[in-house]
Amino acid sequence: MVVELGNPEMKDDLLGLGKQVESCRRCRLWEGRYKLVFGEGPEDAEIVLVGLGPGYNENLEGRPFIGAAGKLLNKLLALAGLKREDVYITNVVKCYLPDNKVTDEEIRACTPYLNKQIEIIKPKIIVLLGNVATNYIFNRFGLQPTSMRNLHGKIFSISTLFLQTKIIPMYHPAAALRNPGLKDVVRNDWKNLGEC
Ligand code: URA
Ligand code: SF4
Repeated sequence: MVVELGNPEMKDDLLGLGKQVESCRRCRLWEGRYKLVFGEGPEDAEIVLVGLGPGYNENLEGRPFIGAAGKLLNKLLALAGLKREDVYITNVVKCYLPDNKVTDEEIRACTPYLNKQIEIIKPKIIVLLGNVATNYIFNRFGLQPTSMRNLHGKIFSISTLFLQTKIIPMYHPAAALRNPGLKDVVRNDWKNLGEC
């Protein structure tokens, strides 16, 4: 199992780390960055949500999930009985991702920050929004990702020296918007999340 130790050069608090990443140029996505979307929520959140990357609106505001997918996400959080301000929301990549297309190189460059965020927060539950977040986190913890159709809503326990948590893959809210046939499945997954 590959679990990287934190990079000693990274700050150990979210505020400091976020400041550090504002000037990051580890991958080409910095060129399209207007505002870094590092993540938002409490440092002691019990639940972390991981999306893909900032869209147009997120880039302008520097906040995750504030566009159409974010509006749906807010409703889904409410279905689970969660308040948005109680969870920590971030993405696999932190700079504007045009067309939602990410390369392996960009994932490799940016995920040390996600790893550090998780290490700082030590959440009880990590909700993986969509395939990219699911594949990345599954691989990182030595699990074999299959299809979202198979994995959505299921709970996987992770136990390492540094972290005990549950991970739950979910369809990305944007996928639910594109495919109305998923609506009931997605609503059901989030209701169940509220009960676990
Ligand atoms: N989609 C994502 O994956 N993340 C965001 O922050 C916004 C839309
Ligand atoms: Fe750095 Fe991540 Fe932005 Fe790439 S996407 S420049 S790795 S913060």
